[in-house]
Amino acid sequence: MSEAYRARNIGDPVAKQRAATFLGMTLTSTAALAAATDTHCPYCSLQCGMRLGGPTADAPVEVLERPDFPVNRGALCGKGRSAPALLARDVRLTGPLLRDHPGGPLRSAGWPEALDRVAAGLARVRAEHGPDAVGVFGGGGLTNEKAYLLGKFARVVLGTANIDYNGRFCMSSAAAAHRRAFGLDRGLPFPLEDIPHTGCLVLVGANPAETMPPAVRYFRELRETGGTLIVVDPRRTRTAELADLHLQPRPGGDLALALGLLHLVVADGLVDEEFVARRTTGFEQARASAMAHWPDRVERITGVPVHRLREAARLFGEAETGMVLTARGPEQHSKGTDTVGAWIDLCLATGKAGRPYSGYGCLTGQGNGQGGREHGQKADQLPGYRSIEDPAAREHVAAVWGVDPATIPGPGKSAYELLDGLGEPGGVKALLLAGSNPAVSAPNAGHVTERLRSLDLLVVADLVLSETARLADVVLPVTQWAEEDGTTTNLEGRVILRRRALDPPEGVRSELWVLRELAARLGVPEGFPADGFPVEAEQAFDELRRASAGGDADYAGISYARIAAEDGVFWPCPAEDHPGTRRLFLDRFATPDGRARFAAVTHRPADEEPDAAYPLYLTTGRVLSQYQSGAQTRRVAELNAAAPGPYVEMHPRLAERLGIADGEPVAVTSRRGRAVAPARITDAIRPDTVFMPFHWAGAGRANSLTNPALDPVSRMPEFKLCAVRVEPAQKEATP
Ligand code: SF4
Repeated sequence: MSEAYRARNIGDPVAKQRAATFLGMTLTSTAALAAATDTHCPYCSLQCGMRLGGPTADAPVEVLERPDFPVNRGALCGKGRSAPALLARDVRLTGPLLRDHPGGPLRSAGWPEALDRVAAGLARVRAEHGPDAVGVFGGGGLTNEKAYLLGKFARVVLGTANIDYNGRFCMSSAAAAHRRAFGLDRGLPFPLEDIPHTGCLVLVGANPAETMPPAVRYFRELRETGGTLIVVDPRRTRTAELADLHLQPRPGGDLALALGLLHLVVADGLVDEEFVARRTTGFEQARASAMAHWPDRVERITGVPVHRLREAARLFGEAETGMVLTARGPEQHSKGTDTVGAWIDLCLATGKAGRPYSGYGCLTGQGNGQGGREHGQKADQLPGYRSIEDPAAREHVAAVWGVDPATIPGPGKSAYELLDGLGEPGGVKALLLAGSNPAVSAPNAGHVTERLRSLDLLVVADLVLSETARLADVVLPVTQWAEEDGTTTNLEGRVILRRRALDPPEGVRSELWVLRELAARLGVPEGFPADGFPVEAEQAFDELRRASAGGDADYAGISYARIAAEDGVFWPCPAEDHPGTRRLFLDRFATPDGRARFAAVTHRPADEEPDAAYPLYLTTGRVLSQYQSGAQTRRVAELNAAAPGPYVEMHPRLAERLGIADGEPVAVTSRRGRAVAPARITDAIRPDTVFMPFHWAGAGRANSLTNPALDPVSRMPEFKLCAVRVEPAQKEATP
């Protein structure tokens, strides 16, 4: 019996701690405190349940295990356990900051002065250049309430079409493919608890052992119960080490790989003809496309040997049930939507969708990556996952907002297009940015930083002085996680509730308050309700429920009381007596005819492939102890000790050929920029590829290099692949 099994099923505390340590997690005391608050981690989309007690001598609150929350059953990774460090006054903002002259220093200011400055600046730009010259940039970490009101503020108060958010950089390709195939986008159409019951799981470009360690128990349980785990990743990650079969394609090879597997499934007679006929459309085109991706060709494109392709196709095709889960690996490409579509086609052809313990899902990244894309901070969308171009949707939302539907702007620019045009003629001149750090996390980040500098007005609402906040004219310090109520929606589509456990520092305000204050200064349309920007999160949520009613992401039946009583509620949940929807598509897909649609796509190269000048692939990703742009985690001592800085991972053969020793500074150059970081030599990576984590600013900023080429459907940039040159930093060639 394995340690993990004993830990889960018998409650053996020693085994539990050992299993947790193996996964890089730390468990805390289970001692209950009288005043403890049940809440959730501020970081990734697993949204682990935790209990906050305290304060203690070391922290304003103490993180305690919350074993009754089903998703993580008490386990937390180091990021969650150390999250209270961010509440300390010395790492976060405690009052507004203003810059009086371009290039001058930021100085402290009171809230009235800061808000007056913001309102006057936004009004001036709007008057001089029109409403679309004012932009709003949100984040996938904002609560549902904040994301909802940010979208409403942009459309109703500013009247701008130009609002988008950093979630565009996260899972937009999977979302687009999901909607194309199934008519609805929810990251996972089933709860995580279903994973151990499937026959074969394919994880594509996902490394949950580093990004969300408590989720790994689902994959380990799958193997313990006899299921098969296949991992597709150019690197032999900690997750790949758990797999029965690891396929290691070249970066950008995931689309061809999926098509090659579909080819073999068809050739080997493993298509579920009855399912295809009864529940799908478009198979003939998909089959024709797959037939053009024969095994030898796919081996040439991907570097994965034919015998491994055959083994994977047989394991997945012959399994009674199966799942494919993608993450950023196949999604962050200029062909990300088609790549995910090809993996969905593989699921559909083998009958592994729309039935128990089978289906396609996306492992969303940011804490509210799911809810953040549902309620209106996206350029093309209104609350409830409604299209902003749908007249009925506009009418419904306008009625909730108390405005004329004609006053709601149309679709605006996507995230990178918005950033790329900052300060340009016809572009955004004033930007209100909340919960995002594009100076580190955007592709081609050097260019984006220059565009941010060119703005007439940059306003940043954040809890820390991030690299982007340092560029701002006005910085507004806002509340965080343990200091406020609010809902998020985890990667399963489970709406959960974060609870306020302590008061924020005196000079800090919530984004909800900031939006109301700005609305009061800027003015709202005639007839707009006086309480149109509620400050209380529950009030905002109740309005969101009404705005989402009847939409795809229908929250109408979800209340704070229900969430607390039920360990979260899965959307869609259209009425208070509706149980919520744990599993989607079991009877029909959400398309007009109820059938899933094959994508029928073909392989195409990346926007930028290696050549003589830039002969290697660069791929980027995450490490266990840092989170996204690192704005928060780089301020936590124990996380920094575990992951102190960037590095360039490379194969020993490549290092030898380039004359690079382990730990030596390495210059990585692309057509957009240059980064320098120490070499980390390992045979876990392909010899034609180098890897850099993207959590750091400065010389080692990986996104100085990345390619902003966009997916034509999702507008996702090609973070995961660009062509680079690598040299020892001291011997670097003059460009
Ligand atoms: Fe937080 Fe994600 Fe770690 Fe859970 S896995 S503790 S949600 S960072």
